Amino acid sequence: KNGTMGGDDGRILVFVRLRPMAKKEKEVGSRCCVKIVNKRDVYLTEFANENDYLRLKRLRGRHFTFDASFPDSTSQHEVYTTTTADLVEAVLQGRNGSVFCYGATGAGKTYTMLGTVDNPGVMVLAIKDLFTKIRQRSCDGNHVVHLSYLEVYNETVRDLLSPGRPLVLREDKQVMALLQRGNQNRTTEPTCANETSSRSHAILQVVIEYRVKDASMNVINRVGKLSLIDLAGSERALATDQRTLRSLEGANINRSLLALSSCINALVEGKKHIPYRNSKLTQLLKDSLGGACNTVMIANISPSNLSFGETQNTLHWADRAKEI
Ligand code: ADP
Ligand code: MG
Repeated sequence: KNGTMGGDDGRILVFVRLRPMAKKEKEVGSRCCVKIVNKRDVYLTEFANENDYLRLKRLRGRHFTFDASFPDSTSQHEVYTTTTADLVEAVLQGRNGSVFCYGATGAGKTYTMLGTVDNPGVMVLAIKDLFTKIRQRSCDGNHVVHLSYLEVYNETVRDLLSPGRPLVLREDKQVMALLQRGNQNRTTEPTCANETSSRSHAILQVVIEYRVKDASMNVINRVGKLSLIDLAGSERALATDQRTLRSLEGANINRSLLALSSCINALVEGKKHIPYRNSKLTQLLKDSLGGACNTVMIANISPSNLSFGETQNTLHWADRAKEI
């Protein structure tokens, strides 16, 4: 199955992406503690190099299964087609969709979303695909594509591209350069160089507007919105239950990330009231979470045993998100 939409039931699709072991991790002799089997099953284990699946399966609470799980050899293109291509199609039908990357700092969120010049990520591939599909339509002159790239940092929303108003994007040629420039505008931690942008969320919103004629030849406007979100590092927002969440509110941790977790918890529990208004991030995304829109989560993880705790937290969070 290659689909990204949970159909019209609005279920969130949840994916896991394992990144390759980094040079630094190798140098300090870290071992791989994640094994992905059959592109679905994720085992978190000290015995990841073992091929004894029976032994792997006995690991309690360390075995997870997702809509798809991507081993470290997975290409950007495969990640894009499996997770996001169908959302681009839906947005072209006038619906909303969103893709989140969640995980600890260094787990591969920005690589997945933005990527590099040689290996562009989901944001760039989605925009290219969008333009290709628009060109294939007979009435492509009717389409207007607006782009905004926002940052949420310390509960302040900032425009990373063009302060004031969304950019009208006429072609997809310079998208990588544009987004890279935007990404460089992300807030960095002055106190710690390698904490760069780990506490800010980057949100790319692509709005597509076009006109179609209905059966009785009336012209109608359609609008679809795709939100692609590179979330702040999850390392300090580990809580998955309401009580722990509340006790963490006082501490100076990422309020928007906690609020996102709270909304997900409320959606999982089928609550009527979803606390979208508790943070800037959830306010921005309230029409893009749960309900009638298509939502995709990509949980990014490192293979190193040094990140075992973070990886376990990320996998538990992703496992919870599956229930929406
Ligand atoms: P995050 O945004 O979650 O903090 P990054 O995306 O910056 O993490 O990834 C950390 C490092 O690992 C970067 O140098 C990045 O290029 C590299 N990396 C992440 N994922 C992959 C991948 N799938 N393949 C190759 N390199 C990757
Ligand atoms: Mg990043």
